[in-house]
Amino acid sequence: MIKVDKLHKSFGKNEVLHDISVSIGKGDVVAVIGPSGSGKSTFLRCLNFLEVPTSGEIEIGGQSVNRKANINKIRQNLGMVFQHFHLFPHKTVLQNLTYAPMTIKKIPKKEAEEKAMELLGKVGLSEKAHEYPSRLSGGQKQRVAIARALAMNPQVMLFDEPTSALDPEMVKEVLDVMKDLAHTGMTMIIVTHEMGFAKEVADRVLFLDGGSLVEDAAPSEFFVDPKTERARNFLSKVL
Ligand code: ADP
Ligand code: MG
Repeated sequence: MIKVDKLHKSFGKNEVLHDISVSIGKGDVVAVIGPSGSGKSTFLRCLNFLEVPTSGEIEIGGQSVNRKANINKIRQNLGMVFQHFHLFPHKTVLQNLTYAPMTIKKIPKKEAEEKAMELLGKVGLSEKAHEYPSRLSGGQKQRVAIARALAMNPQVMLFDEPTSALDPEMVKEVLDVMKDLAHTGMTMIIVTHEMGFAKEVADRVLFLDGGSLVEDAAPSEFFVDPKTERARNFLSKVL
């Protein structure tokens, strides 16, 4: 589903991603972990071309992601969920979900609303369809953001620290929605500091440090017997 080959990304002289190669299969749930500043967000942003790689190849579903590609088409296949929700504040929850399907995919309103209501049901927010985002809790906003991304029927979902901005009591409701999604066979790449979640839900852990992919392992290996000193050191601080 996703192939990354020798990806490098620099900002000026600062090399932020160094020679990352990784393949991610359909239905894989991949946790990306590592210290702050290690390049996790930049890695996700390169996948959907929010950042332009300095060198290297990226393929999503068989399509190359580069200047020549139809980036809008590729982005339609990649749902993205951010730490700070990024909902449209002047639209209701329902309108947040129907906007892109109606304007980008030209889906008729009725059909878009039916699909939106189905998704809101899945994230437990049917009764909030006509509220504005400002009236929702952080956990509810993030569940709306997940439903909104799903409304475009993406093949892959990218999450960048989806629970980092939430009060602790709201983390679980969002992780539960993500867990349900993982069980549907969605391909997911999740930057997270939730080690319990990564252990339980991910098929694979990518550990980034200083812009390099230092470990790529099953959670059962990574958390129990990390291969590198850098990963051991990181885990000793967060576990
Ligand atoms: P993480 O998500 O792991 O905390 P980031 O990918 O956000 O790390 O950042 C990695 C490094 O790249 C940091 O040193 C950060 O300052 C730098 N960086 C990120 N985005 C930019 C940018 N747009 N311009 C310049 N430097 C950036
Ligand atoms: Mg980040």
